[in-house]
Amino acid sequence: MDSQHGHATMNGHITLPSPAGEQLSEASLRDFIEAASISLHSVGADGTILWANQAELDLLGYSREEYIGHNITQFHADGPVIDDILYRLTKGETLRSYPARLLCKDGSIRHVAIDSSVRFENGEFVHTRCITRDVTAELAAAQKLRDAEKWYRELIDALPVAVYTTNASGHITDYNAEAARFAGRDVERGKDRWCVSQRLYRADGTILPHDECPMAVALKTGQPVRGVEAIAERPDGTRVYFMPYPTPLKDDAGTVVGGINVLVDITHRKQNEEARARLAAIVESSDDAVISKNLNGVIQSWNSGAQRIFGYTPDEAIGKPVTMLIPEGHDNEEPSILARIRRGERVEHYETIRQRKNGSVIDISLTVSPVFDERGRVIGASKIARDISDRKRAEAELRRANADLEQLAYSATHDLQEPIRNISVYAEVMNRRYGPTLDERGQESLAFIGDSAKHMNSLVKGLLAYLQSGGADNTLENVDPEAALADALANLGARIQETEASVTNEHLPGIQMRAGQMEQLFQNLIANALKYRRDDEAPRIHIGVERAGAEWKFSVKDNGIGIYPQYKDRIFGIFKRLHKNDDKYPGTGIGLAICQRIVERQGGRIWVESDGEGQGSTFYFTVPISGHR
Ligand code: ADP
Repeated sequence: MDSQHGHATMNGHITLPSPAGEQLSEASLRDFIEAASISLHSVGADGTILWANQAELDLLGYSREEYIGHNITQFHADGPVIDDILYRLTKGETLRSYPARLLCKDGSIRHVAIDSSVRFENGEFVHTRCITRDVTAELAAAQKLRDAEKWYRELIDALPVAVYTTNASGHITDYNAEAARFAGRDVERGKDRWCVSQRLYRADGTILPHDECPMAVALKTGQPVRGVEAIAERPDGTRVYFMPYPTPLKDDAGTVVGGINVLVDITHRKQNEEARARLAAIVESSDDAVISKNLNGVIQSWNSGAQRIFGYTPDEAIGKPVTMLIPEGHDNEEPSILARIRRGERVEHYETIRQRKNGSVIDISLTVSPVFDERGRVIGASKIARDISDRKRAEAELRRANADLEQLAYSATHDLQEPIRNISVYAEVMNRRYGPTLDERGQESLAFIGDSAKHMNSLVKGLLAYLQSGGADNTLENVDPEAALADALANLGARIQETEASVTNEHLPGIQMRAGQMEQLFQNLIANALKYRRDDEAPRIHIGVERAGAEWKFSVKDNGIGIYPQYKDRIFGIFKRLHKNDDKYPGTGIGLAICQRIVERQGGRIWVESDGEGQGSTFYFTVPISGHR
């Protein structure tokens, strides 16, 4: 024994530093070391194992003979490791907890930590003193811990919510990727405190001081905080609505040692809530009745507009069948509306009547749309009912006033015919009797009176024709436009011959119109095409038709003088013409006004297209395919 662990005495006894100061014999000492539970061995300068205690043999599973006397290198799993150990020892180094792997007899490997130094005598290597500690279990535990940490790390990184931990003073110790995204910044471990976000607001928008944030409260009070909503602002100014779930972490003694916080982003939910609230406010403030019902026709919601229009409060209406609003005689409406809704169709501006709570009926316009669930299935309907009683009243009044006016215009025009005829006749009589006695100016004036009376007569006739084209009779007949065209052409036969015009047409489909009106349309348009012809070319007129959605679009195309685009709309006005009333272009400006009145009363449109003077004109008019719209 050397003197490091005790004092060698002159008689070969060693004094151990025991409290009693008693001395142990070498035999006792040897026995003590042999029986020690720690593994010990020594190795000679050539690497031969000189001695090992029982604990070392037990550790590796060898018998004394299998171990002592053999070279230490053969019991090491890693050659370079034992070479390094021996090299360092020969240089006089003292090794502390040097990690190595030893081979056991059963083939297994033990992880050990070696403490070792060399006993030198007069500079000569005598032997090593090796203490081998089995650290296999320790290493396995450390590995297990590392595995657990890795698992925990992967778990929190995989979480779709922001998670971070702090120490007891609130400094952030760890956070996951989602927390960094949430904060929109690089979080500094050990520096940032309480929260990964630097700017916080309460749900009401006021600033939330950092040290009053929920995590700070949880750490200070030692209690988890729940049910709080807050807003975090990122450095780029974007905001996140969130709910924090801070929980203090305590040791066995109940002392707070840190905290963990989970931040749930509720921005989408908030936005949805806001959108919902906005929508609800719109529905509530609407003048129209906005009602929803399920597929059985049971009322589900009822706004204040509905209460105002129908008189029922929400309590009186919700849960009741919507049929309570339907007056007698309209019972078949609801089933047919529901059938369309079930097919996913919309019912638009359906004008009908409904019954109020007090029994009175009201004119309404209904728009009913299907309500779909997330999977696209129809689960009910939303219904907007507009009170149109005022409009209906106004329409009726307008119709009456129009009819009155038309009647007035008609009788006035009709009654004008008589005095105009008288002026004509008497101007004629005067001319015959007194014409020769008048001077030139007198004769001119008389002729002017006669011409004006004739012109006035044709204006009045035109006006009468215009008023009649409205027609009181609204019944539609099946009309063959080709026959109507033939009649019109027969009426215009003389002028067609005279102008050497050619008129062609496509096959014209059957339509529904008031009697005689198709013929009138063709006659006016073709007469114009003959009248407004070019001097240098015989008129060529073509009548075409094509389908445009739910309408037939007829066209009358000519090669005449054309129309400047700026006059395109004007020419359809009553008495509106672009030419002087002379021999070349006689007329009153009523023909196109009549055409427009006929077409519009039938729900169609009429317009003209032309590239300008000398370029010909094409007049178009539409007729609904299924009669009146
Ligand atoms: P009127 O022929 O009696 O003047 P219309 O109402 O039929 O009355 O026509 C109004 C005006 O439109 C005409 O004066 C003419 O200037 C112009 N117009 C009508 N048809 C044509 C056409 N086919 N080509 C060129 N101009 C036309």
